Amino acid sequence: MTKLTVFTAKHIRTMDAGRPLADAVAVKDGRIVSVGTLATMRNWLDREEHVIDDRFSDKVIFPGFIDPHTHLQASGSLMGMTYIGPLDQNGPNGFDEGLTSRQAVLDKLKRVADQDPMSQDPILAWGFDPALHGGQLHRDELDAVSATRPIWTMTYAPHVVVANSPMLDIIGVDETTNVYGIEKYDDGRLNGQFIELGATTIALRPVVGFLADPKRGAAALWAQGRTAQKAGITLTADMAFGKLGIDYELGLHKKVVEDDAFPLRMLLVPLGPPLNAQHGAEAPSYLRKLMASNTDKLAVHGVKFINDGSYPAQTLRLRYPGYLDGHKGHRGETPWEDLWGAMLPYWKAGFQIHSHANGDETVEMTLDLLEQLQLAHPRFDHRFTIEHYCLSTPDQARRLKALGGLASVNNMFVHYRALLHADSGFGFDRAEATARLGSLEREGVVFALHSDFSLVLTPISPLTAVWIAVERIALDGKTVLAPGERIGVDRAMRAITIDAAHVIGRDRVHGSVEVGKYADFTVLDEDPYEVEPARIRDIRVHATVLGGKPFLTEN
Ligand SMILES: [Zn+2]
Repeated sequence: MTKLTVFTAKHIRTMDAGRPLADAVAVKDGRIVSVGTLATMRNWLDREEHVIDDRFSDKVIFPGFIDPHTHLQASGSLMGMTYIGPLDQNGPNGFDEGLTSRQAVLDKLKRVADQDPMSQDPILAWGFDPALHGGQLHRDELDAVSATRPIWTMTYAPHVVVANSPMLDIIGVDETTNVYGIEKYDDGRLNGQFIELGATTIALRPVVGFLADPKRGAAALWAQGRTAQKAGITLTADMAFGKLGIDYELGLHKKVVEDDAFPLRMLLVPLGPPLNAQHGAEAPSYLRKLMASNTDKLAVHGVKFINDGSYPAQTLRLRYPGYLDGHKGHRGETPWEDLWGAMLPYWKAGFQIHSHANGDETVEMTLDLLEQLQLAHPRFDHRFTIEHYCLSTPDQARRLKALGGLASVNNMFVHYRALLHADSGFGFDRAEATARLGSLEREGVVFALHSDFSLVLTPISPLTAVWIAVERIALDGKTVLAPGERIGVDRAMRAITIDAAHVIGRDRVHGSVEVGKYADFTVLDEDPYEVEPARIRDIRVHATVLGGKPFLTEN
């Protein structure tokens, strides 16, 4: 047993609405023993040996921030590829300058290819941004870069792979291959594009060895974990666990996350389709077996389904009138008519389902799914969560409430991408209504904010998400996007703490500074409730505390 430790603060925002403010929190064995003032916790202090730790006495303490949707391990591995993204990056290969034009991307690929044009070692490149770089790459264009060296490229949001001719040979597909998402030119030749999970899984086969290198994976997790800690995060959920194999990824996470020096707790949310393919009807009981070795720090949780494409990669599915240029977007790996059957065993077994839906057509279909699941097997407190919820309509928020669903929203795109996609994707009206948090709040839907880091072109920063939710200022620094979808500071802070905990089924032990919960805190220099809203994103995270143990943020 450890000694009772009391952290004092300028004040504590508990996110317990009944007792919202405190200025001391007593911690023992990683849990919270008492919250209030030194006077109100006197009964404990008189009985227990204790220390008063006043290192945060001029700071503001919040419950540990939660980012309920990230991809730390996968993205960290992708960062080891040749970088062709538009943002400057500090990756495992050092500093990479962002490439802001299509020509710059092709030039960089050519420079790499020309170093050894006859090599059969594929060039693996990651980070393409079709909205900014002028549409998806295609085979002939990459053959012009090199017709001899295999080239494999992936979009930043990893929903699209494009290969040149030598790489198509390695992947082993040709014009006779008939798989959803393996695309063709009008003349019937393969155009090199693999879109969404069914097709990209095939394109990934020759690359798995690179991605599943345990050394690369462990280094990626450590680096991404530290980045998340600096942003104030103490708990995150990996929302595509198992893509490279459950055993490999679970082993990797156990080794890294269970290390006392790793600053985060993690949930691993497995993808449903590969589980179904491997375990069939036994998949839910297989998951239960995995969950038997859950710990306070690392836990397998729920199940994830991907129903459509990506916002930044412009593959999400839109209702009428569709995209400006008439392209259709893509569904996920599982055909929509098969999703209900794929989800039902997990639903009946009581699992929480996380269902990726970016476009308004997909949100509609996903609401239909939830309704069908409820008809087949009624459930209360099921916490079916729509992940991303990027483009939606007010009536969909109302229906989501009626069906008892939740939303985990990526609202970063409002600031970072909406104007770009107004021009190249959806038009201004739908782009400005990205992430309708105001509608969710009006209907009483519980929602969380997430980053999807780092598989989209936005930072990991819960305070930035809060600032965007409150102000909705576009990248031009002046346009307020859909002002009726703004929310207040308290609601936004809830969406990165207690409501985020609810959305990933962990509000019993996470999300607020309450007696009995884990002693996970985020320590800020200033209080988001007190500064000018425009400054919320600039508030410095001073430290995090995980199970009572402080992790100071390096400057
Ligand atoms: Zn994701």
